[in-house]
Amino acid sequence: MGIQDNLSYFLNQLPVGIKLVAVSKTKPVKIIEEAYNAGQRCFGENKVQELVEKQPLLSKEIEWHFIGHLQRNKVKFIAPFVMLIHAVDSLKLLNEINKHALYNNRIINCLLQFHIAKEETKFGLDNDEAIHLLESDQYHSFKHINIIGVMGMATFTDNTEQVRNEFRLLKTYFYEMKEKYFSEEETFREISMGMSDDYKIAIEEGSTMVRIGTKIFGERELR
Ligand SMILES: *Cc1c(COP(=O)(O)O)cnc(C)c1O
Repeated sequence: MGIQDNLSYFLNQLPVGIKLVAVSKTKPVKIIEEAYNAGQRCFGENKVQELVEKQPLLSKEIEWHFIGHLQRNKVKFIAPFVMLIHAVDSLKLLNEINKHALYNNRIINCLLQFHIAKEETKFGLDNDEAIHLLESDQYHSFKHINIIGVMGMATFTDNTEQVRNEFRLLKTYFYEMKEKYFSEEETFREISMGMSDDYKIAIEEGSTMVRIGTKIFGERELR
């Protein structure tokens, strides 16, 4: 199956209202164009350098999502155009995003990344850290960022019950945050969870955005 078939497969089976982020990391511009020509407009990348190399070569209609761990000193490179930053996990990073969004006269949408997996290596906040962030004076001074939801990655495992429980935990965080801090904010509505191997479970558990790479583009190229 080609990229176009893979995309239509997803677009046909995703329930209405769930956004497909086509994760194009490691894939060349030509391949992204193929997906673009098949109608896909939203793409996800996880390396700043790769994203800033590709972005100028592709249509300005593309909505670029940054889905990886973002270093503070690299925010400035994507701030002019990025549509959504999925993995915000500190006040310092948020401060940097706010600063560069202001500089570019934009408001940048962000998701708070929560640590839901058992693995130590995955980034993200726990509940207390999120509360601390959202109750800080500094956060309230940010005028150029908009937190529109949460993001998380489940443990890489065949144990589907574990994956389901981790997605449930993320959904619980989402509703707690929504009730406590964003009840007036209609734009706080996104739960970014689900990848090629676990998107079905993620959707069953309330995902609003799935980030799919391999099942659209095939195995990743070596970087
Ligand atoms: C690579 C990546 C994905 C996509 O992974 P696949 O298993 O290829 O679908 C999703 N989210 C993040 C954060 C990633 O880095």
